[in-house]
Amino acid sequence: MKINIASPQIGKEEIKAATQVLKSGMLAQGPKVQEFEEKFARFIGVKYAVATSSGTTALEMALRAHNIGQGDEVITTPFTFIATANAILYCGAKPVFVDIDENSFNLDPEKIEKAITKSVSRRTKAILPVHLYGNPCDMTQIMAIARKHKLIVIEDACQAHGAEWRGKKVGSFGTLLGGASAFSLYPTKNMTTGEGGMITTNSRQIYEKCNLLRAHGSRVKYYHDILGYNFRMTDMEAAIGLEQLKKLNQFNNLRIQNAQFLNKNLRKIPGLVVPEPLKQAKHVYHQYTIRITPQFPLSRDEILKKLTQSGIGTAVFYPLPINAQKIYKDLGYKMMTPVAEQISKEVISLPVHPGLKKRDLQYIVKTFQNM
Ligand SMILES: *Cc1c(COP(=O)(O)O)cnc(C)c1O
Repeated sequence: MKINIASPQIGKEEIKAATQVLKSGMLAQGPKVQEFEEKFARFIGVKYAVATSSGTTALEMALRAHNIGQGDEVITTPFTFIATANAILYCGAKPVFVDIDENSFNLDPEKIEKAITKSVSRRTKAILPVHLYGNPCDMTQIMAIARKHKLIVIEDACQAHGAEWRGKKVGSFGTLLGGASAFSLYPTKNMTTGEGGMITTNSRQIYEKCNLLRAHGSRVKYYHDILGYNFRMTDMEAAIGLEQLKKLNQFNNLRIQNAQFLNKNLRKIPGLVVPEPLKQAKHVYHQYTIRITPQFPLSRDEILKKLTQSGIGTAVFYPLPINAQKIYKDLGYKMMTPVAEQISKEVISLPVHPGLKKRDLQYIVKTFQNM
């Protein structure tokens, strides 16, 4: 038995679409990118989308488009992929880490306000919530705080394509205050283009600034207004993305079904804490992540070994909070987020992807029952 932790679902539709672009001779950003942006924006429920080379570059551009830089602080979570915080550093701004909630693993809204600063030398400019593992943050509370303190909201929706909070898609909240959101299209994510990313926004101004930043600050070819980058997506990638987008709801439904099966069976085992999303949340299970408590007979690391020996792909997302990573320690950060520290020692992610068969899921459950 060999069950992978992730398995990109590429069918003949994606292969045909990419091949057609290859045969057309128009490989770089062109009509497919434009079509992908329009359909993605419609899917999320926003006016504009800008396709990029990755989720990381989508985050950086979203921040830069709001002129976030030197002297600005951005409140975010330490329990996420490094790219979230690095994007803030790239802009010259300062990530401020607020602790997480132990049930959702997301930024704890109750702790955000204490971290807001308003002096000349230190001022909070934005909140960057991450919908970790596909589980939406409490956007009602986060948007209320942002409104009260006039903060920009940049959502990191890199793991949450199609997730919803109170029936509204993530990636469309930040935009309420002229903000933007970032998605990743890396192969392990809920949909993929190989590498790639997407920015969503309702602001015409932010949309135009992102377009400039993506193409070397150029509105008219070879005339450059601002310092930009090459953060473009290719038409091959966009053609694949268009096919993946058609299948996204089905992929997410399968992820949800798989998670429900695992929940139903693993919930009964003492020492395992399964993900229980809030009523208002549509969790799309980019990852299915459980916590191991001391009641379980094996330690987290013993379980990892046992699963690997049994052919079950598994991973720890993430073993070290960002404020404890070497590059952040070198910048003077200290661990002051005890919940994130504790959770990072307890979590294990199990396969939940749409390619799993019923017997794969049964085998995962049985392996836990026999530990
Ligand atoms: C994947 C991911 C990113 C970065 O996306 P890339 O496409 O890999 O650059 C950023 N934030 C989070 C939470 C992610 O999971």
